[in-house]
Amino acid sequence: MGEIHAGHPHRELVLKSYKKSYTCDGCKEPGIGSRHRCEDCDYDLHKDCMFYKSTTRHDFFPNSAFKFLLQPPGHRERCCDGCGKPVRGFVYHCKEEGWDLHPCCMNLPNKLKVDDVKFKLRDKVLKKCFWCNRRRLEGSVSGIRGWSYVSKCEKYHFHVYCASEMMLEGWKNESYSNNNDNDKTAPDSLALALKNLELPLQRRSRGNGGGSSGDKFIRIVKMFFKVFVGILLGDPTITLTCLVAELIR
Ligand SMILES: [Zn+2]
Ligand SMILES: [Zn+2]
Ligand SMILES: [Zn+2]
Ligand SMILES: [Zn+2]
Repeated sequence: MGEIHAGHPHRELVLKSYKKSYTCDGCKEPGIGSRHRCEDCDYDLHKDCMFYKSTTRHDFFPNSAFKFLLQPPGHRERCCDGCGKPVRGFVYHCKEEGWDLHPCCMNLPNKLKVDDVKFKLRDKVLKKCFWCNRRRLEGSVSGIRGWSYVSKCEKYHFHVYCASEMMLEGWKNESYSNNNDNDKTAPDSLALALKNLELPLQRRSRGNGGGSSGDKFIRIVKMFFKVFVGILLGDPTITLTCLVAELIR
């Protein structure tokens, strides 16, 4: 049994699970794993886009009320104040202050635990990001600083933006949004991304950590990446599967 969504009123969307990546027809951002789908029109939604709250709040904007919109308001290009990427579809918008958040960014967890490393979502950071080697997001439109996950020990820092860039880099040889039903034979997108990321990760980790602690650094980065992808792309169960695989090996 499915459910009707305001953005796709003609038929119920049904929960489906494929390993392959897709593009969400709500927020227009990539997704992976389970999705809410209409086979007739090849329409897919993230869980966070499917089950939205019409109004909500966020801890980083304690005085702002966000409204869920099917389209970004106005004609000017808007960017998400969480990840810094453009907003092209469903969005939580605060009219008074002009904030925008992708549905998946609105729902990013405050805390993550990867192995024995505890991460916290922050809107202000002191250290440089592992991926871009900067504190602030460079080149983001309208000077959005962007959120980061920072470990309690401060050794690990990833911009939300950069973690999703890592994912896109890992997937650059794969096209999104080809939801074909032969999914069982499709390569596992996440495994593929990690394989493609091996070299860039090693290159970058030489400057961070290094030495005998370098192996652990890389391992934590990879695990963080898996956990993060599962969460950002709306399917935390993927994360769990990967972590279990990691533990068994
Ligand atoms: Zn979405
Ligand atoms: Zn449809
Ligand atoms: Zn975002
Ligand atoms: Zn970065």
